[in-house]
Amino acid sequence: MVLTDDQKALQETARRFSRERLLPDYQKREKLGVLDRALIAEMGALGLLGVDLPEEVGGLGVDAVTTGLIAEELAYGDFNVSAVPVGISLIAAILMRHARPEVVQEWVPRMTRGDAVVAICLTEPRGGSDASKLQLRAKRNGDDWVLNGEKTSITFADRADAYLVFARTGTPESGAKGVSAFFFPYEGTKGISRTCFDDLGSHIIGRGSVFLDDVRVPASHMVGTEGKGFTQVMQGFDYSRALIALQCCGAAQASLDEAWAYAKEREAFGKPIGHFQGVSFPLAEGDSHIAAVRQLSYHALSLRDAGLPHTAEAAMVKWMGPKTAVEVIHQCLLTFGHYGWSKDLPHQQRLRDVMGLEIGDGTAGVMKLIVARDRIGRAAG
Ligand SMILES: Cc1cc2nc3c(=O)[nH]c(=O)nc-3n(C[C@H](O)[C@H](O)[C@H](O)COP(=O)(O)OP(=O)(O)OC[C@H]3O[C@@H](n4cnc5c(N)ncnc54)[C@H](O)[C@@H]3O)c2cc1C
Repeated sequence: MVLTDDQKALQETARRFSRERLLPDYQKREKLGVLDRALIAEMGALGLLGVDLPEEVGGLGVDAVTTGLIAEELAYGDFNVSAVPVGISLIAAILMRHARPEVVQEWVPRMTRGDAVVAICLTEPRGGSDASKLQLRAKRNGDDWVLNGEKTSITFADRADAYLVFARTGTPESGAKGVSAFFFPYEGTKGISRTCFDDLGSHIIGRGSVFLDDVRVPASHMVGTEGKGFTQVMQGFDYSRALIALQCCGAAQASLDEAWAYAKEREAFGKPIGHFQGVSFPLAEGDSHIAAVRQLSYHALSLRDAGLPHTAEAAMVKWMGPKTAVEVIHQCLLTFGHYGWSKDLPHQQRLRDVMGLEIGDGTAGVMKLIVARDRIGRAAG
């Protein structure tokens, strides 16, 4: 892929920030377990949040490929911090397209400044893969909608400033056509309680449940029209899936670069371990696999930029990206011998963090189902 001068300049800004500000404290941030809001604001000030959004809401108006370059660079330094811009690309795009202007004008600039984090709430205790069957109820009451139910497995659940919630406004049997979207802030909204799970990874962004108990949302805060919520979010996922794959490539590349450097220095049997094909070939395979996933991810984004369908390509990289990164990072961890097993090195953390996205945003099984449906129609299942 040949980059333009503008793309290279933005990539360089993200790379410098990632290597200087994110990478050195990646593990320290996990121990603290909190989202460093000052760091997110710093990214906002550098123009690294919501780059694909129009300038009037704080973006740079760049294309999807450039947005991917930034997600990949940031994930090299900290996979979890890079979830913030990827989340903005997904959520702000839905708001820009479907929310009332007053909601957009208040919240999207806050997101691009790094002043607000928004959670997207689709999954429920009964399941996430078959999302069109969601049950959380929204009932009209005067000028408001009243929401009741539980969302679970939500990224940023206990630390979000606002929620984009998908709820059933139609009958229980209405399927995807009975789902609507609502946006509301945490502060000032009564009836919200939230928890945080004790997860294997991604501690700084957190994941948990959001309980809605007679939560009143003004009708003006319905996003889009009644019954269209499901379609709105599904369109956005084609984008975020390709960005997630690039986050995975960034994290795996960081481990690969560190493993190659170690293989040049560490000696066994009188020479650097990298001189043994048993060490260098698995790393060469890892570099090859990551390069292939990266290229397909950018291809999916370039199709998006050209206004062409990219659902299948995005689903392909969404399952291949996390899986390949997990395998590659595992191999890098082994390259470090006993040091790799220590929590002093970052590979174990990258492995845990990346693994979450083998499930989050849709599992490999569901991604393959999407590819199969693209090829032979909706009867595939
Ligand atoms: C790190 C992380 C972050 C997340 N963040 C969010 C978030 O911000 N917002 C949100 O709404 N959700 C979020 N989720 C939830 C996530 O989207 C769901 O976990 C996911 O969609 C799967 O749903 P489930 O866990 O209920 O599994 P289920 O739907 O119960 O599926 C269980 C297993 O069965 C398989 N399966 C089910 N149906 C099929 C099929 N037809 N063909 C093949 N295999 C199938 C699945 O692949 C899976 O392995 C997150 C999850 C994780 C792990």
